[in-house]
This record gives sequence, structure tokens and C-alpha cells, in this order.
Amino acid sequence: MEEREYRALDHVLKLLRDDAMPEIPDELAEIPALGEAHGRLGAVREALRSLSRGDLPPEISAGGSVAESLNTLRSRLGELARRMRMAENGDFSRQGDCPGEIFAAFDSMALRLDGMICDLRKKEETLLIMTRDLQNEVSLRTSAVEALQQSELRFRHLASHDPLTGILNRRSFMERASHELQFVSQQNTLSCIAIMDIDHFKRFNDRYGHVNGDEVLKHVVKIVSEGLRKHDFLGRYGGEEFVFFLGNADLETGVKVADRLRKSLETSPVKIESGPVRITASFGVAPVVNSEIPAQAEGRENTDFIRMVIDRADHAMYKAKRTGRNKVAAYEPGLEMQEQQ
Ligand code: GH3
Ligand code: MG
Ligand code: MG
Repeated sequence: MEEREYRALDHVLKLLRDDAMPEIPDELAEIPALGEAHGRLGAVREALRSLSRGDLPPEISAGGSVAESLNTLRSRLGELARRMRMAENGDFSRQGDCPGEIFAAFDSMALRLDGMICDLRKKEETLLIMTRDLQNEVSLRTSAVEALQQSELRFRHLASHDPLTGILNRRSFMERASHELQFVSQQNTLSCIAIMDIDHFKRFNDRYGHVNGDEVLKHVVKIVSEGLRKHDFLGRYGGEEFVFFLGNADLETGVKVADRLRKSLETSPVKIESGPVRITASFGVAPVVNSEIPAQAEGRENTDFIRMVIDRADHAMYKAKRTGRNKVAAYEPGLEMQEQQ
């Protein structure tokens, strides 16, 4: 081989070996085959360097099978990158249309992922339905609990109040008054119990009918409730008998309060179909004597004590009836004996 041919071959080897792209020496420039080899090898070399960095090289314009293979590899890798980006967005639609092991592996991975995503979506839908069902169930149960609480409140109210007049029934009045006794004895305040009985109520019922009689009971409760002070409360003790707990009141004050209630009743006729009818009531008032309150007053003992004071008020009320009705009478010791005479 000639010297020039050795140097041309050496230049080709440099193209394959050196990091930097070698220049064709001037004295070899006129060898056409070397120029072509330099161009083709240079293009392949740059394309391979680009691929080794993980980048897609520009298409190689030089013809030939090596350049074509590289171009095909380049477009396959480009396609793979495109499919990966589509898969990343959940699109696995272009599958099975590229030959080769790499695409087969990618397609089978994409197929698995697609299946897993479908399963996950189904599970998500099921979970959403379950969540909605649970929320419905929770709100149904919450409403049921609220309804129960409401009806419990209603039942409690029904159990403790008189359905006709809406005030405390006898049992609840006794409970509340017994409870009040603890406060009274702790604070050593004075209080009274009063009984009110509508006058000649039977006569009213006989004349105007039971329905109008019920209206009288509601009317009476309305009038006397308006006249009570903040420490006072009342309950329906029996048919047309009402009982009052008058707090912060000595006997004199208790009698005054009862007389005020009596007067407001007397001056507020009940209005029924046939016209206004005057209603009166008789009152008996008895003091709660603090020294008589059971020492360790609890439930039962307090109730017995309250009942005893109510009995005294009742005796006073009978005195008011005996002495002409529409009156207030105060309890005084020995009153029970007067009734027997
Ligand atoms: P007095 O002045 O002595 O108290 O006479 P009175 O007629 O009011 O007394 P009496 O005890 O003889 O009658 C009470 C009446 O109260 C008899 C009963 O029909 C009536 N009464 C009791 N509860 C009710 C009720 O819920 N509704 C009605 N309309 N009447 C009732
Ligand atoms: Mg009566
Ligand atoms: Mg009566």
C-alpha cells in the first residue's frame, strides 16, 4: 500500500476512535472515497453519540444500510417515547402495530397497566357508591336519632305535663317542689304553697257542657300563670284544683299573691259561645315552715312533707269555700279541728 492509502486508513480509524471529530488532512482531500467515508462515518458517529446520551439524533441524510438502520432505530425509539407519554396520560390505544421484542415488552406492560387502571377505576366507582350509601345510611340514622330524641322529649313532656292545660302534672309538681325544698332550706328563704279550686265548677259543666268546662280550665291557667312571679310555679293537682309553689314569700306575701290571682280571675270572664261567663275560685295558702323540713330531706321524705303542707293549704281552701267562696284563706294551726265542728 502506498503511504497516502495508509494515512487515509489512519484517518478512518481516527474517526472510529477519537473523541474529537478529526479534520481530513489537505493532502488527502482529493481522495473521493475518503471524503464519502468521512461524511458517512461522521454522521453515524454523531448519531450514536447522541443516542448514547439518551437523546434522539436528527435523521441521517446519508444513504446506506447503516444510516437507514440508525434512522429506523431513531424512529422506533421516538415512537416508544411517544407511546410512553400517551400511556402516562392513560392512553394505551396504539398497541401491537410495531414488531420487535422491545415493543412486545412495552405493549404487554401497557396492556397490564391498562387492565390495572380499569380495575382501579371499577374499585373507585364501587368505593364511591359505598361512600354514598354510607352517607345516606349515616344521614338516615342521624335523622332517626333526632326523631327519637324529639319523641323522647315529647314523651318526657307528656309524662310530666297535663295535656289539657300544658302545666306540670301532679307528680312533676311534687318532684319540682321537693327539689325546691333543698334550696329553701339551704338558703333559709320563706315560701308558701297555695291551693286553688274553681267555684261551682260542676254547675258550670252542667249548664255549659264539658267542652266549655275544659275551656274554663285552660282560661284559668292562662290568667293565673300571667300573674305569677319568677320564683313561682304551678301544677294541676286534680280535676279543677291547682297547686302553687310561691317562692320567696312569707305567709302574708303568699296570701297577697293568691288574692291578686283571685282578683284577676274574677275580673277576666271566660268567653264561650253564649257570651262571657264570670269565673271565680277559692284559695288556701299554707307556709312552708323551714324548721319542719326534714333534716336530711331526700326524695320521699320531701314529697311527704310537701303533701303535708298541701293538706294544710287544702284545709285553708275549704275554709274559703265555707265562708262564701271567691276568697283567700290562710292556714292557721287547729284549722283541721274547725272543720269537724
Ligand atoms: P265547689 O265550689 O265546692 O268547688 O264546687 P264544684 O262544683 O267546683 O266542686 P265539685 O268537686 O262538686 O265538682 C268539681 C267538678 O269539676 C266536677 C267535675 O265534673 C269537674 N271537672 C273535674 N275535672 C274536669 C275536667 O278536666 N274538665 C271538665 N270540664 N270538668 C272537670
Ligand atoms: Mg274540687
Ligand atoms: Mg270546685
